[in-house]
Amino acid sequence: MRGLRLLIIGKQGSGKGTLCAKFALRFAIPHISTGEVFRAGVANKTELGLRTKAFMDAGELVPDDLVMEIVNEFFNRDDLRSRGFLFDGFPRTVNQADLLDRLLEPEGVDAVINLDVATEIVIERLSFRRICSDPNCGAIYSLTSPPKVKWVCDRCGSPVVQRDDDREEMILKRLSDYEKMTAPLLSRYDRLGKLITVDASCSPEEVFADALEELAGRALMQAGGAGSR
Ligand code: AMP
Repeated sequence: MRGLRLLIIGKQGSGKGTLCAKFALRFAIPHISTGEVFRAGVANKTELGLRTKAFMDAGELVPDDLVMEIVNEFFNRDDLRSRGFLFDGFPRTVNQADLLDRLLEPEGVDAVINLDVATEIVIERLSFRRICSDPNCGAIYSLTSPPKVKWVCDRCGSPVVQRDDDREEMILKRLSDYEKMTAPLLSRYDRLGKLITVDASCSPEEVFADALEELAGRALMQAGGAGSR
């Protein structure tokens, strides 16, 4: 029995990270956020970080060859073909989706969860969003749900900060790139019958419950059970 292969797609601020954290707590599927991997590289000044920093600082997508380097490494090191995975923020271009298909031939992914939410809502969420500055923690907060002690992470005690790319001018650029480069993936997965669209304007708990129900409805996951097939 192999693990579930899930992708989470949605605009910046649609709640991908929050949903994935809930999935990861509940099910034993590796959760991989390419954005978190890149942010950790920049914070730790690794070779990957040095190669990706300029793109991230400009709010641009990192080139596909660099993205695939880290994705291939996860597949080789963590045996994702059999363990399954939950990719958050990958694929983000048609080319990345083609390369992922090739890695997973012949079956491909099991399902793609599309977090659907209006642009006005995500603009507000992104400008309110704050994150733990420790890239190994990655806890997510907001001005409306701050940590218990003033701007110190509840989980690890590191300072809680605003992401550089969550500043207003960057937000609009990133959302426009999403529409141009990532949104076309939705019709691709829909044609394959793999797209699950969830209303992501609701609370994180409701989004999680809806996603679980949809997966269970497709016999991909038991609502309270393990994430494997
Ligand atoms: P995220 O945390 O998913 O919003 O990603 C933060 C940043 O990392 C993005 O703005 C991109 O610069 C880069 N990034 C993350 N995932 C990808 C990807 N799949 N393709 C290209 N760039 C990515």
